Amino acid sequence: MKRTIKKIPLKIDTTIDIYRFGGDENGILIVAGVHGNEVTGIYAARKLIELIEENGCETPVTIVPVANPIAFSCRTRSDPRDGLDLNRAFPYEDKEGPSHYIANCIWSLTKDATTLIDLHSSDHLSAIPYVVCLYDDEPSKKLAVSLDVETIVGGRENKGLLFAEAARSGIPSILIELAGEYGIYNEEQGEWLARILFDFLMNKESTATHNFYGNIMDVHSPKKGILRLPIEPGQKVKKDDVIAVIEEEEVFSEHSGIVLRTAEQSMIKEGERICSIALD
Ligand SMILES: [Zn+2]
Repeated sequence: MKRTIKKIPLKIDTTIDIYRFGGDENGILIVAGVHGNEVTGIYAARKLIELIEENGCETPVTIVPVANPIAFSCRTRSDPRDGLDLNRAFPYEDKEGPSHYIANCIWSLTKDATTLIDLHSSDHLSAIPYVVCLYDDEPSKKLAVSLDVETIVGGRENKGLLFAEAARSGIPSILIELAGEYGIYNEEQGEWLARILFDFLMNKESTATHNFYGNIMDVHSPKKGILRLPIEPGQKVKKDDVIAVIEEEEVFSEHSGIVLRTAEQSMIKEGERICSIALD
């Protein structure tokens, strides 16, 4: 019997919702959900939209709460159709494929913006919120201190990062990292950041004392076993402090700085991240 195979292309209707307040003027761009599983940033963006709808806003602003909608639906970091990290795909360089199409869309909004704020959430529920900024870029540093987020860390100039590429293009840009883990969000931090961003849009001056740190260093587990943590996020550590105990073996810090995020007390595998420290 003759066999025939017919391929029927499926059209996936994806849209990216863009909320504009204050007319068509170029304004501040706030993006969340570049990584689909980082829900605290998405939650914060949606709460911010609610605040603006209820109270109005003094500054023109464009908000993209879910930049990577298929990844968000699948609760994955990347769009599973190509598996590319969207936050390594900027600026858009005329390439084909789902993540590049999104990069093109977000980059065209970024080019028209006066300022960019990119919301993410880290891989850990135990985490303090912090701003990432390229210190060499004065306008971005000024933007960082205009928000009521105390902890500011130095960003790496990795290629393809939305905030870094925007800063290089002359648009003051920061990334904000909140607590959260693979689709799980931190409601308190989301609400807190929405309020901070709203105050910023209402031109309220920051009252926070800002602390600047260097790059972020990850500490990985040297072995598998039951992890006990004598440290918590927000705590300062010095070189040679005990930062973890795994099956009676102590792990010492190689750096001085502030603990940004930690694993949970759990059975940890060799090579898994115990914590991240922003260097003094
Ligand atoms: Zn992210």
